[in-house]
Amino acid sequence: AAKRKGRDTLAMFEQGLDREARERRELESDLRDAVTRGQLRLHYQPVINLDDGGITGYEALLRWHHPRRGLIGPNDFLPIAEETGLILPIGGWVIRQALAEISRWKGDFRIAINLSPTQVRSPHLIALVAQALHSNSIAPERVEFEITEHVLMVESETGNDTLARLRELGTRIALDDFGTGYSSLGYLRQALFDRIKIDRKFVVGIEDDLNAQAIVSSITRLAEAMGMQTTAEGIENRSQLDLLRKLGCQEAQGFLICEPAPGDAFATPEALEASMTGKGSDVLDYRK
Ligand code: C2E
Ligand code: MG
Ligand code: MG
Ligand code: MG
Repeated sequence: AAKRKGRDTLAMFEQGLDREARERRELESDLRDAVTRGQLRLHYQPVINLDDGGITGYEALLRWHHPRRGLIGPNDFLPIAEETGLILPIGGWVIRQALAEISRWKGDFRIAINLSPTQVRSPHLIALVAQALHSNSIAPERVEFEITEHVLMVESETGNDTLARLRELGTRIALDDFGTGYSSLGYLRQALFDRIKIDRKFVVGIEDDLNAQAIVSSITRLAEAMGMQTTAEGIENRSQLDLLRKLGCQEAQGFLICEPAPGDAFATPEALEASMTGKGSDVLDYRK
């Protein structure tokens, strides 16, 4: 009986694998048409300055409105896009769309755009960025590209070269999810970054975690000594916010301040006021 049960479990396991593989193939073929069918959208999440609570920028975050599955987040389809090379047309769309959208908004702010390893390795990236800046009349200093350490690990020569050329163009570079990957201080030594984004992992539970506090405080001091700014990701409550400020972090983003939302929410001063009221209101209270 035990043997039979084992066989049944194995059969179920194999069926499960089949289903997963089938779903993945389906998703992959749907993703091929997602750009041309207009199913991709950008949401934006405000980033605030911890001195006065003012908005300094927005991070563009990709969403896929799938006709049958509904809203799909980037973690559930970007790995497929990255493996299949679809990230190039998708990532190109993100850059053009973000710059076109924000060129219509009122106000003085930065836009942060995430780049994947394949994009950074692409020989067409620089021309694409230059063209998108030009056709939307956006000053390059307003654009900050976010990359993770993976980018530098995979192929560091090309990666460094692209980052250097993006900076020549005048755009900024942030090191995203700092402290999660194979964090090597060697990456910082090359001084390619304008900003370090401290991963949410260090923010979760930081109120009661002296080690996390020590880590964050050394990251902010290291950044300052190297002329970089720091942004804390994933702020969900007031005590985290106060602590991050006390530990020397300059900027923050997170659900406490505002969740990512479609661009309409931030495009005009009236919409912006309405979007930030209630959600981040206690945060904005100390804006004097
Ligand atoms: P990320 O760049 O580190 O972005 C921050 C993620 O944390 C976003 O998830 C955001 O919605 C989420 N987040 C923000 N505040 C909070 C908070 O207070 N609590 C919690 N629990 N989460 C918070 P999202 O939108 O699902 O994006 C996931 C990742 O997908 C991003 O991580 C980024 O690496 C990647 N990604 C998103 N859009 C793009 C894109 O256009 N291109 C590329 N290459 N990657 C992208
Ligand atoms: Mg990011
Ligand atoms: Mg991040
Ligand atoms: Mg992160």
